[in-house]
Amino acid sequence: ADGASGAAVPLGFPVSFELFPPRTDAAAIALGRTIDRLAEFDPAFISVTFGAGGSSRDRSLTVLRYILEHTTVEPMAHLTCVGSTHAEANRLVREFLDAGVTSFLALRGDPPKDGDGALGDLGSAAELVQLIHRVQEEREPFTLQPVPGAAAGRIRRRPRPERVAVAAFPTGHPRSRDVARDVDALLAKQVAGANLAITQIFFRAPDYLAFVDRARAAGVTIPILPGIMPITTPERLHRVGEMTGEEPPSSLAIDLEIEPTEEGRTAAGVAFASALSSAVLDGGAPGLHLYTFNRYQEVRSVLETVARTRPHALPLPDTTPPEKTPTKD
Ligand code: FAD
Repeated sequence: ADGASGAAVPLGFPVSFELFPPRTDAAAIALGRTIDRLAEFDPAFISVTFGAGGSSRDRSLTVLRYILEHTTVEPMAHLTCVGSTHAEANRLVREFLDAGVTSFLALRGDPPKDGDGALGDLGSAAELVQLIHRVQEEREPFTLQPVPGAAAGRIRRRPRPERVAVAAFPTGHPRSRDVARDVDALLAKQVAGANLAITQIFFRAPDYLAFVDRARAAGVTIPILPGIMPITTPERLHRVGEMTGEEPPSSLAIDLEIEPTEEGRTAAGVAFASALSSAVLDGGAPGLHLYTFNRYQEVRSVLETVARTRPHALPLPDTTPPEKTPTKD
């Protein structure tokens, strides 16, 4: 890291962020600035989405490399396995490891709507979790690290990869519609070697807290990070509702519809996401994972609002708007 990111901004709770790979040069330049500023919150990691079927592979890698080279933040690569053979999935994991990425969010992904529905060799995210561990072990079968205090000659494996995260569905995966299955699926991913779960977007804190309770009762012990998105337009709220299969809260839907200005809509979305974030932290969530939609200001406003309400919160320093970067190409 070359220290491009500034001093860490203390929040008092762990945070992580999700980004998606940009499609244009202009968006890529803007995303670089966003990453630099998100890094100031000293996130546990920044994850980068991956188009199922591999459509975004190179663009995802470019963003992950930027995080590696310009910040001290751990980059996490989303990977999907739908439609892949074992050999293809193996190659994909190696390619990301070669680039220096050692944390993954292992996903099955959705088969293309117009495709033949073939899932490929790996039927679930749990199988991809296993494959990631296998590939890591093949690359570095063992490390000769003496176990402190143990008899001479005993070795232990070096802990790796850094993180293998998986998706969790507090209100049920749209295809399952039976939340017991989602707890079972999460437990299977843990058994396969996942060490972190990140939830799908949800709208109501009790849904997340009840899911965590059910998961714990079923034997899930890994941290379950709540995934929260500041939603600031009626269109995005509608899309998220479709994606999750959940009815968005009417209060937020109405606020976003009736607010005549962008500032008003942003304030409504930020207020909703902040209240949800505070409620899950109060309920014991191990941190916040924010779906940033590659935007900085809303994310900052949410974190600022939440941090202000936490006990022992430290004030966030004032920040000036990012400088305009001259565009060359
Ligand atoms: P799985 O967890 O394997 O399965 C999903 C659900 O199917 C389970 O929860 C369960 O309800 C059911 N299920 C699975 N196995 C069984 C079984 N054996 N028996 C019965 N039911 C079962 N998609 C992308 O394309 N790119 C991304 O970058 C991306 N990032 C994401 C990040 C997060 C945090 C989340 C929550 C989702 C993301 N997705 C992404 C969407 C994801 O690909 C979809 O949810 C997809 O439909 C399933 O992938 P999965 O990893 O959730 O699959």
